[in-house]
Amino acid sequence: MKAIEDLVSLLTRLPGIGRKSALRMTYYLLKADQGYTQALAERIGSLQGEIHFCSICGSYTEVDPCAVCTGLDRDRRIICVVEQPQDVLTIEASKEYKGLYHVLGGLLSPLDGIGPDKLRIASLVHRVREGRSKENSHDSVSENHKAMVEEVVLATNPTVEGDTTALYIRKVLEREGVRVTRLATGIPVGGDLEYADRLTLARSFRGRMPL
Ligand SMILES: [Zn+2]
Repeated sequence: MKAIEDLVSLLTRLPGIGRKSALRMTYYLLKADQGYTQALAERIGSLQGEIHFCSICGSYTEVDPCAVCTGLDRDRRIICVVEQPQDVLTIEASKEYKGLYHVLGGLLSPLDGIGPDKLRIASLVHRVREGRSKENSHDSVSENHKAMVEEVVLATNPTVEGDTTALYIRKVLEREGVRVTRLATGIPVGGDLEYADRLTLARSFRGRMPL
């Protein structure tokens, strides 16, 4: 039946969903309450229209700039650099970190043709510099918003690409006079930030090392 086959082939494009799971979902949806299937379809259809990327940090947000970038309770002297928008949510859940974020949108991978120009590295340098030039000007921005960036924490995953990217960014920031640190202990080598538990992540932040 074409309708079933079409849905199955759409579902198998989702991460971690094989044909067997897709079939199970499809049969479930066939029997499910219509209110649910309609809500699900509408939610999927409107998701990309409602969630945007923050124009400052690159994280997911409904309002641009995001709540972290505009938050008065955030420590604006520190920027945590992560690979993906979802990493921001993972770190926020640890409740250990109160600084700002910068999402790279990927990692350096020369073999896949991903060079520095494909990542949000230039905008990171711009943010570090901008804080510095604001410090010297006498505009009416609140004291908190004027704070100069003093530290950049590199929280890319401890994989070959993650390490390569971290080292590249450290080099780029060398002349900016900012402290560059890297999440240290706790994250398993080759592991993924997304799967680190809160306590591990909290310990990693406290144990961050100069890079
Ligand atoms: Zn933001």
